[in-house]
Amino acid sequence: MANDDAFAIVGASLAGASAAQTLREEGFDGPVVLIGDETELPYERPPLSKDYLMGKSGREKLYAHPAQWYADNNIELRLGQTVTGIDRGAQEVIVAGDGQQPYAKLLLTTGSSPRRLAVPGADAEGVHYLRRVEHSDQIKTTIDAASRIAVIGAGWIGLEIASAARAAGVEVTIIEVAELPLLRVLGREVAQVFADLHAANGTDMVFGAHVTEIGVRDGRADGVRLADGSHIGADAVIVGVGITPNVGLAADAGLTVDNGVVVDAQLRTSDPDIFAAGDVANAFHPLYGKHLRVEHWSNARHQPRAAAKAMLGQEVSYDRVPYFFTDQYDLGMEYAGYVEPGGYDRVIFRGDVPGREFIAFWLGSDGRVLAGMNVNIWDVNDTIMAIVRSGRPADPAALEDPSVPLESLA
Ligand SMILES: Cc1cc2nc3c(=O)[nH]c(=O)nc-3n(C[C@H](O)[C@H](O)[C@H](O)COP(=O)(O)OP(=O)(O)OC[C@H]3O[C@@H](n4cnc5c(N)ncnc54)[C@H](O)[C@@H]3O)c2cc1C
Repeated sequence: MANDDAFAIVGASLAGASAAQTLREEGFDGPVVLIGDETELPYERPPLSKDYLMGKSGREKLYAHPAQWYADNNIELRLGQTVTGIDRGAQEVIVAGDGQQPYAKLLLTTGSSPRRLAVPGADAEGVHYLRRVEHSDQIKTTIDAASRIAVIGAGWIGLEIASAARAAGVEVTIIEVAELPLLRVLGREVAQVFADLHAANGTDMVFGAHVTEIGVRDGRADGVRLADGSHIGADAVIVGVGITPNVGLAADAGLTVDNGVVVDAQLRTSDPDIFAAGDVANAFHPLYGKHLRVEHWSNARHQPRAAAKAMLGQEVSYDRVPYFFTDQYDLGMEYAGYVEPGGYDRVIFRGDVPGREFIAFWLGSDGRVLAGMNVNIWDVNDTIMAIVRSGRPADPAALEDPSVPLESLA
């Protein structure tokens, strides 16, 4: 049993590993206990729908650190263990089948889980969700054996899986309730770029579609039935309809939960000794003056560093501009900023949109750049972030004109 001066971290994935690393880098020499219910070393998930899924990179590339790193840094890594409760009075977490783990400070990096589809047939064999490395392995096996698959949900994960499946020569139908892929996140102008990309790569897309049932034959999914009565045949069905934060522990412990574990800009929950970071945290963002829950890799990397510093009593205020990226077919992009669904006035393009080599800027009604996305153009995202962060109204003509250096707009 570790000492009660331990700093405990629940959730041994990217965010948890990042926090543990920062505690040591900041000179904390007390016990650090990192507990996770998966049996893999803490790993990064983005490759699970990209290179790893396509067999282009191996499992060892996923890991945040090699096993030896945890030993070298005296981090007690407890894998395959589920935390079932937090006793805030006693300052300990309850580990299923393994008693209590006391803590002086506790960090929750419990992440999120795929939202389940609630229609008949959704539990049949051949219906897949993607969150963990074993899911990616199963989907790869499925893609290798299938001649056609259906993907429900044209969000980032659905589109990336579709791209991997097309690369493997599989017929793909994407089924989406909205009129375009990524419509809520990107708005119509840029969502159309992704619709065109997938169409150009031979994916069938059905928009405005309501799934009523997964067809099942002999216990296996054989397609998707829609509200208009049509049936889309498929050898397997992949569901990517969003995620929900894993807030159960926090909620049961009486911490404030609202679209994630509610934390301040120091990543502190309603209990001063408990912090949260990564996908699970709905954190106050000083730049936007409100709480944001960011479900992306960069946030899972950087936010726990701030949380670790706050656990050590340092003054922090986590205010990084949200960032994410995707790779689909020959399109790679980075996005920096934050726009509420429909919360922009216009989009300005700089560069070649049909050729998919451009930068898009989302402008607010006050002329400020709310977000920017560089598509197949590299080494500009820091400047885009600086433009977003500046909060100044930008000249649309200058944003559009590639002869105007981006740096001059930051
Ligand atoms: C397939 C895929 C592709 C992605 N691609 C991109 C991308 O291209 N770009 C991008 O920006 N982001 C991407 N993301 C998002 C990014 O991976 C996540 O934002 C990131 O993984 C969040 O990290 P986290 O550590 O907060 O949570 P998670 O990665 O969800 O880890 C939380 C961990 O805590 C464990 N846990 C939960 N509850 C308990 C408990 N009670 N006891 C013990 N352990 C527990 C979970 O099992 C899990 O291991 C992708 C995600 C997926 C799934």
